[in-house]
This record gives sequence, structure tokens and C-alpha cells, in this order.
Amino acid sequence: MHTYHSPLDLVRERSPERPVALVRPGAVALAARWFQKTFKGDVFYALKANPSPWVIETLAKNGVNAFDVASMPEIELVATHAPGARMAFMHPVKNRSAISAAYFDHGIRTFAFDTEDELAKILDATGAAKDLNLIVRLAVDTEGASYPLAGKFGVGPAEAPSLLLSARRATQDLMGVSFHVGSQCMRPTAYQAAMAQASRSLVRAGVFADVVDVGGGFPSVYPGMVPPSLGFYMDAIDRGFAEMMVHETTELWCEPGRALVAECSSVLTRVELRKGDALYLNDGSYGSLFDASHSRWPFPVKLVRDGEPSDAALKPFRFYGPTCDSLDHMPGPFWLPDDIGEGDYVEIGMMGAYGVAMTTRFNGYGDLDAAIVKDAPMASMYGLAPASIPTPRTETGTVVKLSRARGKKRRRR
Ligand SMILES: *Cc1c(COP(=O)(O)O)cnc(C)c1O
Repeated sequence: MHTYHSPLDLVRERSPERPVALVRPGAVALAARWFQKTFKGDVFYALKANPSPWVIETLAKNGVNAFDVASMPEIELVATHAPGARMAFMHPVKNRSAISAAYFDHGIRTFAFDTEDELAKILDATGAAKDLNLIVRLAVDTEGASYPLAGKFGVGPAEAPSLLLSARRATQDLMGVSFHVGSQCMRPTAYQAAMAQASRSLVRAGVFADVVDVGGGFPSVYPGMVPPSLGFYMDAIDRGFAEMMVHETTELWCEPGRALVAECSSVLTRVELRKGDALYLNDGSYGSLFDASHSRWPFPVKLVRDGEPSDAALKPFRFYGPTCDSLDHMPGPFWLPDDIGEGDYVEIGMMGAYGVAMTTRFNGYGDLDAAIVKDAPMASMYGLAPASIPTPRTETGTVVKLSRARGKKRRRR
């Protein structure tokens, strides 16, 4: 990857025809070191947030050398780019041959599940292995989350005790619990509440957990969505852990995705046409702007223009992507100078999580180039950016309600 001082230098030198992922490896390194130092347990990076090889390599080099994976291709990516790294197969519904390959070919011992049937499948596919770390995925309240994940995965409080008991009996190694409070969790206390819920299920089952995995959900900062600083999340987890019925040797794990990578990448797009307040860009909802479209995620934007900087007033714009599908629409509003037009470039910030990871080749678009840039991300949870989006020092933060596109259920994470 070529290195440029800034996105503007890249535009001056290359006038890129295709969208470019602007990559800031230092931001990943800093986030990795912060989690490694501050979280009082093991940090597994949730690969789906951004599976780029350079991300895997940078994380591993900076102390986050454990990965939460969900499929064979993800396992192979980690095996290639962080050889020897620890992996946990945390998808609660797995294919039988993937479980076998994970166990026998990649040495993976940690598997999550939320039903007796999946537990039976894991035992069967590993030849009734006795050295498994079995993690029961619990359903918990996801009130504080901007992107709730409840519904698809997790065993509810009524069935949890018997599944915990089955897990305890099935392994001589570690038995644990995990949950996911929902992505971009705006409330640190959500973790404490989920841990209390997990503790009640463990007590009712009459078993001790060897692992308490608090999952992902740690936030980044976006316009209108400014979370409390991450230290408050660590404090809430410490309190929650102290209040749980666990033994001295119980391990604490977490699986951050977004918080480790949101800042590390932005996307440079070009305006191909302007129609009033609509800008037609060369990247869109089938490219890296899935969340800007389907979840109306409020990404920050910046005009990048070779020539005189604009002094026009800011105005709200909508974006259309390059494909012929009318769903390829990002409603925004995105605030940009009123004199923007064809040939201008727009940098869309804070795209490191669930941006590049979502691209398709639909309609012949979606291929991104990549380049390293040396300037700061548009916002930062780790003190990298000038305080353009202020981070409050309270435990509440600022929350904006995201409207959902056409009643579409939020499905992924
Ligand atoms: C997606 C996912 C994560 C990461 O979630 P973030 O909100 O990006 O931190 C962690 N664990 C599991 C099981 C996931 O599916």
C-alpha cells in the first residue's frame, strides 16, 4: 500500500477513479494497546468488523493476538496473517465440517452455542473431545445498544440453567458464559446488568463458570452518537465481575469489534454528479456504505478538493451510490459546502468497522483501492483526533435515535 501524507495529497497525485479505503494503521495499534492494557482479561478481536489482512497483522503485533471467528474463511484468514494466534469459534450455529476442521486442523478448542442440539453437534464433530472450552451464549437485555442484536442468538433465562449444566458435564476443561449487549452500546451499565443476569442463571444451574465473556459492543464516536469514554465501560465490567458468583480463577474475556477498528479507516469517494441536494458518489450501500444506507448510520464527512478550499456555507446533502438499484441511497443528512459538485471528493470518516467488510461487486462496482494516510481520524476514543466531536466526561454520553430503513430488522452482528 502506498503512503500519503493526507487524503488531499492522494487526490492531488492520483485523482483516483475508484473509491479508496484510507487506512491508518496507527489507530488500530493504539486501540489494541489500550484494550490490552486496560481490560483486565483476554481480548479477542471480532474479525467480522474488519477482516483486512493489515488489520489482523497490526492487532497481532500490538498484543491482541486472539480472534473471535465465525466461519472457515475467517479461520483461514487468521491462520494466514497471524500464525499461531488463539481463536475462538463464537458463532452459535456452525456447520459440522467447519467444527471438525477448526478442532482437528486449526487446534481451536473454544466453541459457543445456545442450544442442546448445537452442543451435541460440537461434541459429535470433535469426536467427543474432552478438552473443549464450552461457552454458553446467553440472551441479555440490549437496552443501551444503538444496534441491538437480541433475537437471533442467545438462550433465554428459562432454558439457560439446564444448558449450563449440560455444558459443565460435557467438558473437563473450561465452561463459560458469553453474551452480546448489542453493537455501539451507549451505556456502560449494560455490561454490569448483563453480568448480573448471567450470574443469576449460573446460580440457578448450581455451576461455576470458568470464563465470563462480556462480548463486544464497545462504542466508537459518530456525529450525534458520543459515548462515555471507554474507561467507564471497563469500570462497569470490573464492578459487574466483582458482583458475580465466580471462583478465584475465573477468566474474564471480551470480544471487541467496532471499538478496535472504527477509527482506522475512512473512504474517499468522488462526486460523479450533483442533482440539487443529491450527490451521486462512486461508493454506496452495496460498497462500503451499507450502514449509512440501511441503518442511517451518521458517518462524518469532509470535502477534499484540489484547488482553492471552499468557503461556501455547509448544507445538508443526500448521497446516491453508483449501482442502478434505488435502495442504493444514503439519506444522511451529510453536511458539506454548498458549492460541491462533479469531480470533488468526499472523505467519509469512521468507516473502519463494518465498512470495507460489507462490500459486494453488485453491478460492477464495489472494488476499493487502499492507501495509507498519515493524518488523524475524524474522531477518536483514544485521543488521536482533535476534539471535533466532543467526548463527554460523564457516564451518560449523547444518544441519537437511529431510524431504521423500512422496518428492516437489524440482522448481522
Ligand atoms: C459482532 C460480534 C462481536 C463484535 O461486536 P462489536 O459491536 O463490533 O464490538 C463480538 N462478539 C460476537 C459474538 C459478535 O457476533
